[in-house]
Amino acid sequence: MIIRGGTFGPVATNTYVVADKQGGEAIIVDPAAGGSQWVQETLSRLDATPIAVFDTHGHWDHVVENHVWADRGLPIWAPEADLEWVRAPAPFNPALFGNPPPTPGTEPARLLNEGDTIEVGALSFAITATPGHSPGCVVAYDADHGEALVGDLVFAQGIGRTDFPGSDPGAMIASLERVFAEIPGETRIYPGHGPWGVTLAEAEPYARMFF
Ligand SMILES: [Zn+2]
Repeated sequence: MIIRGGTFGPVATNTYVVADKQGGEAIIVDPAAGGSQWVQETLSRLDATPIAVFDTHGHWDHVVENHVWADRGLPIWAPEADLEWVRAPAPFNPALFGNPPPTPGTEPARLLNEGDTIEVGALSFAITATPGHSPGCVVAYDADHGEALVGDLVFAQGIGRTDFPGSDPGAMIASLERVFAEIPGETRIYPGHGPWGVTLAEAEPYARMFF
């Protein structure tokens, strides 16, 4: 597996390109504001064929450039429980996001739910529903390679906010406890903000300072 990350936009959102191998297939994870040129260059360097955009959840900063890739013919894979924000991206917190011009929505070709599997070439990611930060937050975990795309559930040194519209602090705690119980601690995590590549076990004590 090859994972490349870049950080873009008003709230420093991580976009990832995940490919099964050089010259293989790839997905674009959470296309943040201003990241499309970096994504294109990264795909070119990897000689990878993009097969889809995968949104870890529907918050504006993670879906704002879905339309760039949808316009180029890529399908959008997004969590069903955040569908309305994918259809109508909502920068609902002006203090964070400013007042950006309207963002075109996209219609996902695939709606993700608990128990689904994402295939990227030879890679296989299990989808776990991890509501709390948003209703539709999911974690995509590749057990074969020990890597997990965790969105805004857990960061290297913290957790996603639970004070947004649709957030649920109780569900967040349950999601975190479930992920810490079910995903091995040596798994490397790729969060929606901040550093990536730390292990889940390294992140857990920081996360537990917040709940
Ligand atoms: Zn978020």
